[in-house]
Amino acid sequence: MYAVEFGEHMAWSLPTIALSLLLGIAFGTLSLQCLLRSTNRHREFLATVLFVAAIAGLHFIGVSAMRTHMMSAELMATGNAPVVLGVALAITTLLLVATGGNSFSIDDATRAESYERMRQMALHDALTSLPNRVSFNDHLDQVIEDAKEKGTQFALIGIDLNKFKEINDVRGHAAGDVVLVTIASRFTEMLGEGEFVARLGGDEFAAVHLTSDPDELKAFVARIEEAINLPIPIEDYEVTTGGSVGLALFPKDATDKETLVTRADLAMYRAKADPLRTVAYYEPAMDETVREARALAADLKTAMEKGELSLHYQVQTAIATGEVFGYEALLRWTSPERGDVPPARFIPVAEENGLIIPLGEWVLQTACAQAAKWEVPFKLAVNLSPVQFFHPDLYRLVKETLEKTGLAPARLELELTETSIIDDKQRALEIVRRIKELGVSIALDDFGTGYSSIDTLRSFPFDRIKLDGSFMQGIETNSDAAAIVRSVLALGRTMNIAVLAEGIETPRQLEVLRGEGCVAGQGFLIGRPACAETLGLQPA
Ligand code: C2E
Ligand code: CA
Ligand code: CA
Repeated sequence: MYAVEFGEHMAWSLPTIALSLLLGIAFGTLSLQCLLRSTNRHREFLATVLFVAAIAGLHFIGVSAMRTHMMSAELMATGNAPVVLGVALAITTLLLVATGGNSFSIDDATRAESYERMRQMALHDALTSLPNRVSFNDHLDQVIEDAKEKGTQFALIGIDLNKFKEINDVRGHAAGDVVLVTIASRFTEMLGEGEFVARLGGDEFAAVHLTSDPDELKAFVARIEEAINLPIPIEDYEVTTGGSVGLALFPKDATDKETLVTRADLAMYRAKADPLRTVAYYEPAMDETVREARALAADLKTAMEKGELSLHYQVQTAIATGEVFGYEALLRWTSPERGDVPPARFIPVAEENGLIIPLGEWVLQTACAQAAKWEVPFKLAVNLSPVQFFHPDLYRLVKETLEKTGLAPARLELELTETSIIDDKQRALEIVRRIKELGVSIALDDFGTGYSSIDTLRSFPFDRIKLDGSFMQGIETNSDAAAIVRSVLALGRTMNIAVLAEGIETPRQLEVLRGEGCVAGQGFLIGRPACAETLGLQPA
């Protein structure tokens, strides 16, 4: 405005101009601060108001600094001032609009960029960069839609690593990460057209293969198997994890996403459960297995209420003398409809749906109450499932059961398997220590079937190792089995832990064990499990 020739008809007030600039700067700063720093939900609105205040302050107060006197007619008539003014105004307006437009498009571009980055992050797994569960679900939706439209077929493949947990536990999380990253990059490299692999979480992956050709599918599965079965170099050693693969076909096995996913999972679990198979295709019989497990769980629940459960006891003796020192409580379920259901059948079902907690409580209370009434104070061994072992109430349950039944704590021995411990060694150790403080002893059950690390033995204060019955079969003839038994016995001696051999069925086995100096034994040869009355432990 200063540039427009108004001649001596105009005067400017400098303090007002200063004030207008100051206000413009102050409100402008506040507006930017508010936009960039504030976490307020309405910050954009507030910033806008402040920015309007900045413009209004600068403009209107600035304009008020100008004082004009009467404009002369001469200026109005001759001057091209209105034209100049008009052009200047137009240019300024255009500039303003252009700047606004430009900043808007810059803003838009950065926004699109960060959106893309966020989308990438949201759809990919941070460790392996494979698509994650969210993008897997999207992809599957898309594939199903396409297949329905075009009438094509595809396979959904569930993949679960076998030894990942063990590697993570024994070698550390860094090694576990290397395993995942290596396998993920092998997957990425092997992918061809119409193939897709995602990491669903943990050591769980899923793949999609778009074809109806069984040979092509087989070749794809072979590539997956190779990716998970090849050794993985980590620092100066190698690990091999292996895995289980389950397949469900669209539309043969299912036409909706949920069912397809469930059925691929079912097939995968079947492959996992079967030691001879690593790949399984879904079969309708697998649904039957699940239905059957559900029915069994429902029956088991009422079995507790109807009193269909009871306890048998199996004798434990000193091998050298044959002297009885204890009994192991074994749960029995006699169902009017199903007959005798073996614990190996119903315990896993109870573990899966949490029923093992009330069930285990019943076993402990009943066994302790019965043993408290035995005429001879033999030791009582009670099995604990891993689920029970990590239950926060276990300590209180053991303590209160001992108090209520009056069983001397030194008579109770709890049997744990290594699977109970491996999940969280630190916590497991704390639980074991607290329970031992009560005066209760702890035995390691089924030794030789699980991870069987010497490390576990060394770091846990076990009172007894129970050598798994599977070693007995070979001990008479197979020198390998005998060698293993011998080394476990030697280990027990050096660590000062008593070893009990389970599953002794023949006199020859007993003889070999006696020769090797095994302390204690249990098995059909010495005594079959039976109820306390039959065994003469308590009056009928
Ligand atoms: P386990 O703890 O290893 O129990 C020993 C199993 O071996 C028992 O089977 C017993 O009957 C069987 N057995 C004993 N001597 C011999 C033998 O000489 N030869 C053979 N072949 N077998 C022998 P059972 O009673 O069928 O129990 C199976 C498994 O079920 C147990 O294995 C244990 O893991 C679980 N179980 C049983 N009762 C309970 C319980 O109250 N709680 C929990 N959590 N698990 C239980
Ligand atoms: Ca046992
Ligand atoms: Ca056992």
